[in-house]
Amino acid sequence: MNYPAFLKLDGRQVLLVGEGEVIERKAEPLVRAGAVLRRAPHFAPALLDGCALAIGADAPDADLFALSEAAQARGIPVNIVDRPALCSFIMPAVIERDDITVAVSTGGAAPVLARMIRQKIEAVLPPLIGRVAALGARFQAAVRARLPGLPERRAFLERAFTGAPAELALAGRQAEAEAAFTAMLDAPTAPTGMVFLVGGGPGAADLLTLRALRLLGEADVIVHDRLVGDDVLAMARRDAERIFVGKSRANHCLPQDEINALLVRLARQGKRVVRLKGGDPFVFGRGGEEARACAEAGVAFEVVPGVTAALACAAQAALPLTHRGVARMLTFVTGHTKDGRLDLDFAALARPGQTLAVYMGVATLRALHEGLTRAGLPASTPAMMIENGGTPRQRELRGALSAIVAEAPDWVQGGPALLLVGEAVGEAISRPMRVTEPA
Ligand code: SAH
Repeated sequence: MNYPAFLKLDGRQVLLVGEGEVIERKAEPLVRAGAVLRRAPHFAPALLDGCALAIGADAPDADLFALSEAAQARGIPVNIVDRPALCSFIMPAVIERDDITVAVSTGGAAPVLARMIRQKIEAVLPPLIGRVAALGARFQAAVRARLPGLPERRAFLERAFTGAPAELALAGRQAEAEAAFTAMLDAPTAPTGMVFLVGGGPGAADLLTLRALRLLGEADVIVHDRLVGDDVLAMARRDAERIFVGKSRANHCLPQDEINALLVRLARQGKRVVRLKGGDPFVFGRGGEEARACAEAGVAFEVVPGVTAALACAAQAALPLTHRGVARMLTFVTGHTKDGRLDLDFAALARPGQTLAVYMGVATLRALHEGLTRAGLPASTPAMMIENGGTPRQRELRGALSAIVAEAPDWVQGGPALLLVGEAVGEAISRPMRVTEPA
């Protein structure tokens, strides 16, 4: 077992022995730590005078051995890169976020493994976590004054660092974060819930963003739709409460205003509420209404984008939504209607040089076809219907627009389906069945 510690090197001398890429890479973090570098291609004992630390690499063995021995005899920490037997300290794999440093060590046994562990931590540690630390620093004195007892202070800080102030800082909304922190200080026991409108992507768990994944892991309550599949829900904290609010085309299980009220109510109970939606919350997701409801109720909220269906479907079909010389515009349009009448600007939608992504369009395909062709879009325009796009259950139906319109209603099997229309659809790239080595 080694003893972990962080060294203060500001203004201290550090000896680097050797010449080459490896030793070069050690220099930069030392400079950032404020160290004054003393560099030499070869070792000589006098070089160690006044040094707080020594590192060797890219030098003849004799130099490295001598450096190791002399430094240890003088009690100066020394590391010879890739030579654990010559080291008195180990250099960890490091994750940095402003003032926060996470260091990983396998005790020198498996540096490659340490780097792999580092990568995993990189993925779960939000990029702006340092801002949360800065928030803590900024309010340190105020928190001490307001809550002199350690247990109360600790409980308060835990809530602040998992609640709205921290989340706002993580989202780069520093002024709001400080306001939320101040509000908490003014009323330390008042609940501080928050609503996250999270895009769950098309259904594949690994198409969640890292941010969505983190929030799912930290949620108290998850309010979700029919569109969010089990694979995505499985990523959520196990003991998080789950509330299904349904929503399919014809069957609104819970009216939107009741969903809005539910989100506000849960947040006011002090909960971290993840409102999980298929795709992106702001693309035909009524996320705007939920965000407004939160804002009007004074509830802190954040929006986390997700991979919207059009993007997932196109990627899976290797279909470039914009394509040089073919499509310079991409239009997201809904086929959903209240009364079966499609009230769309067909003249604009029929204009050449664009790709249409039609959401919720299966029930109104005929009306769409009629409107588009009447406005001048050729019935032979390439089209594709994709069901369960971006998931392992994806299905595709390709053909001319008129053929798709005729076949699709019988073809769909009840999953969410998206229609893509435009010349770019004809550019969908067929994949080689066998991946061959380049000649
Ligand atoms: N917010 C969602 C869209 C919700 S509207 C998003 O950004 O993707 C619901 C419509 O989205 C469905 O009727 C269908 O047209 C489309 N859709 C959602 N997920 C889909 C998927 N995996 N495959 C194909 N279409 C999908």
